[in-house]
Amino acid sequence: MLSPDLSFDAAQFGAPRRPLVDSFARAVTYLRVSVTDRCDFRCVYCMAEHMTFLPKPELLTLEELDRLCSAFVARGVKKLRLTGGEPLVRRDVMTLFRSLGRHLETGALEELTLTTNGSQLARFAADLKACGVERINVSLDTLDPDRFRALTRWGDLNKVLAGIDAAQAAGLKVKLNAVALRGENEDELPALIEWAHGRGMDVSLIEVMPLGETGADRMDQYLPLSAVRASLARHWTLEDIAYRTGGPARYVRIAETGGRLGFITPLTHNFCEGCNRVRVTCTGTLYMCLGQEDAADLRAPLRASESDEALHAALDDAILRKPKGHDFVIERRGSAPAVRRHMSVTGG
Ligand code: SAM
Ligand code: SF4
Repeated sequence: MLSPDLSFDAAQFGAPRRPLVDSFARAVTYLRVSVTDRCDFRCVYCMAEHMTFLPKPELLTLEELDRLCSAFVARGVKKLRLTGGEPLVRRDVMTLFRSLGRHLETGALEELTLTTNGSQLARFAADLKACGVERINVSLDTLDPDRFRALTRWGDLNKVLAGIDAAQAAGLKVKLNAVALRGENEDELPALIEWAHGRGMDVSLIEVMPLGETGADRMDQYLPLSAVRASLARHWTLEDIAYRTGGPARYVRIAETGGRLGFITPLTHNFCEGCNRVRVTCTGTLYMCLGQEDAADLRAPLRASESDEALHAALDDAILRKPKGHDFVIERRGSAPAVRRHMSVTGG
């Protein structure tokens, strides 16, 4: 059933607009936008070593990204996460943050945030805070410099640690995201969690998802979080808590550290029934589900006219096609991805 509530398109016309509600009565209130497919790292589970990136004219300009995000805000999106690729390597990305910050000031948007690998955070942390960003996610899978270099292929751990320092010093609340990788960082997860909790950061563990060719076999990398949880529970007291951040993580509090630990388990636990989110790529392709191929082109309506009417019509059409759930399966027989596009394309 469609909700009769109307949200306000204050940014555009001052006219009320219908919220985005899919055919399973789920309201879309959370948008993730990939602002670039490029990255200064080549994490082994995310990208191949040699990637071909998109030619610039394919990408939405920063102005188009602003129009697109603002249209979603007008339709009831309350939480906006910029991601990538690495969002902070997009030239002048701070102008986009600054401009989107106006929706926080009006109250139309409740949260503006980003997911970053942290490599550029030392430069941008204070600006992000000034734009109204309060919380950020930093991806960090290991505290061992050599292992970090191996996992990211190109990354420098010291830069990321300096970035986290700068973010905390600027007053940003930092959450760590760590992908649990069999035989890579599984022995180190307790130390990583303890370190993060000691610095007042929550941690979310993520299962490897079968997205895009990376040159690695997913079965080699895949570590079910049910096994990680069981192993952590042998050392620590894990208390289930109701805490939610609007995302799919289920949280526990670790009695010994006092910190929160989230489990994001797309493969061992299906979280689709409460899904409130959609994703847009840096070319303006809307994916109604991370784990499905169906998509809608928003770039054509954006570029077709200066008015947003065609864009809103495309949104109406697309949201009704949001599927009930995803089809991820990591099968033993091979490493072919379930979904061909990389996580860096859809945005994590
Ligand atoms: N570059 C930024 C970063 O690394 O945080 C933002 C984009 S990245 C694609 C977003 C998140 O997706 C990261 O936390 C990363 O670890 C995660 N990720 C990438 N590929 C993944 C995969 N195949 N399975 C699970 N998580 C993945
Ligand atoms: Fe880059 Fe993030 Fe993918 Fe790593 S996970 S390659 S940092 S986009």
